[in-house]
Amino acid sequence: MRRAFLSLGSNLGDRVEMLGAARSALIARGGIRLAAFSPVIETDPVDVTDQPQFLNQVLSVDTHLSPHGLLDACLGVERAMGRDRSAGPRRGPRTIDVDILLYAGLSIDEPGLTVPHPRLAARPFFVELCRAAGAPETWLPAPVAA
Ligand code: AMP
Repeated sequence: MRRAFLSLGSNLGDRVEMLGAARSALIARGGIRLAAFSPVIETDPVDVTDQPQFLNQVLSVDTHLSPHGLLDACLGVERAMGRDRSAGPRRGPRTIDVDILLYAGLSIDEPGLTVPHPRLAARPFFVELCRAAGAPETWLPAPVAA
């Protein structure tokens, strides 16, 4: 089993319900066990600022899945929850966003998968949520300007 930290985000529909449904759907896929979770916080949108506020949470999970297997699970949960990536701007409103922030302290730079997540270092609130979910300090990227 390897420890990973996933981010959940939602700013469309019943956001609390979306986060709960994503947690359940991740666990239901198998090979993923929930170890801990951060509080849920409300955040301002960053890139596309003219959209509703997000609810965000970080999950600590233990998984048998490889990094790409875990990414497939994250994208599968987004699809199953009806997120349509072709609709609207890339950083626009979304029912659910599930990303891998950290995976076993590894640095991965492959087509379609970058770990630590490229936006983690620029979003101090995500680093704080990782800490709240128990992420080891040595796994966290050094902060950079947004
Ligand atoms: P986004 O729309 O911002 O959630 O981006 C999703 C796309 O980013 C997916 O198609 C992934 O292949 C890619 N991606 C690269 N690194 C990651 C990561 N650490 N977690 C989730 N998606 C990633």
